[in-house]
Amino acid sequence: MKIAIVGSGFSGAVLAHKLSRGMDCSITVFDERHHVAGNCHTERDVATGIMEHKYGPHIFHTSNRKVWDFVNEFTKFHPCVNRVKAVTPRGLFTLPINLLTINQFFGKSLRPAEAKVFIETIGDKSITNPQSFEDQALRFVGREMYENFFLGYTIKQWGVHPRDLPASILQRLPIRFNYDDNYYNSIYQGIPEEGYTAIVERLLKHPRVELKLNTKFERAGVSDFDHVFFTGPIDEFYGHVYGRLGYRTVYFERHEDIGDYLGNPVINYTAQEVPYTRVAEHKHFTPWENHDKTLVFFERSKFTEAGDIPYYPMRREPDKAMLEQYLTLARQESKVSFIGRLATYRYLDMHAVIAEALDFSEAWLSAKSSGQKTPVFPASI
Ligand SMILES: Cc1cc2nc3c(=O)[nH]c(=O)nc-3n(C[C@H](O)[C@H](O)[C@H](O)COP(=O)(O)OP(=O)(O)OC[C@H]3O[C@@H](n4cnc5c(N)ncnc54)[C@H](O)[C@@H]3O)c2cc1C
Repeated sequence: MKIAIVGSGFSGAVLAHKLSRGMDCSITVFDERHHVAGNCHTERDVATGIMEHKYGPHIFHTSNRKVWDFVNEFTKFHPCVNRVKAVTPRGLFTLPINLLTINQFFGKSLRPAEAKVFIETIGDKSITNPQSFEDQALRFVGREMYENFFLGYTIKQWGVHPRDLPASILQRLPIRFNYDDNYYNSIYQGIPEEGYTAIVERLLKHPRVELKLNTKFERAGVSDFDHVFFTGPIDEFYGHVYGRLGYRTVYFERHEDIGDYLGNPVINYTAQEVPYTRVAEHKHFTPWENHDKTLVFFERSKFTEAGDIPYYPMRREPDKAMLEQYLTLARQESKVSFIGRLATYRYLDMHAVIAEALDFSEAWLSAKSSGQKTPVFPASI
């Protein structure tokens, strides 16, 4: 079989790895960029020697043992706990909002049960039927915390006022009533010793796999292959016939310095007046390395226009309706499958795309070998 995989991010690379070992085939992996690993691409900066996360800081985390064992086959991971701080109009606090944040923010020393009662009292209970993200946040945490932690950050990150976002975004009370400031709840967390690109290069290394970088795959190319796995944007695959799905993009202002600039890998800036959403200092992700110099990235967000890299799917109601139209077109395909964050228009962390690509390749190979119709999408779509 002649197979094309479009995209060499984790989705495409895991598929290439599994298919090259699972059947007799020749696989061509296309990527329009000059490098592999998609948005997880890491590269050692020549001037400083620091491992740079080219598309924003990436911390690997998962509670899925199968995924954790799988990635550990390809590299050594060093333990890493993501402890984010937030500079708010009222000062610097620890995130996610936890007991330390509450006690420092309100100048108290409450125990967990006392803090729960206290937060109940500051929430705006006159809001009985919250319609918007703003209503929901005010009801859960009250005006002071809402304005310091949510308001400005949301406007900067999503370009939308919280009163224009649905309440469903904030379904649960976003607070921990203990001193746990580990950003993720996952059982396994770490940073790969040689960066993410080294993992992807190893995933793609097989005599059956040919890599074509700097090569954009167009829909017309489908006829050259027996099957195509597409991990790029689904709206682009269909020439935007129904319009462009809404994304936010992020862009970075790079700053080189000496010593330690932030004292932490990532600090969020919640005030609307501060133009960036967060600042990341990448050398803090590799504490086992020594670097005199440092690299700092000021991250900003804006609506994605033609030519921008799509980062965060906005999934507004018109986007969801448009997505349904593209999914309907895609479901009629017999030679094309769609997988990954862009082809399914979802925000997915690395562990999620790896799990989906592992399961999908197994399902696809099994359908193929038993002569059944091969799946177009992962089971969750
Ligand atoms: C700012 C940011 C921070 C993140 N931080 C984390 C984190 O800390 N931890 C975590 O687990 N996850 C994080 N993620 C999520 C992570 O980036 C994704 O899970 C991952 O990149 C998804 O892999 P993918 O292969 O589906 O897509 P991508 O990595 O986007 O790969 C798709 C590839 O397809 C190529 N392509 C697209 N169309 C075409 C075409 N027509 N022809 C040829 N090539 C094409 C692209 O060039 C790209 O290389 C973060 C995401 C963002 C936006």
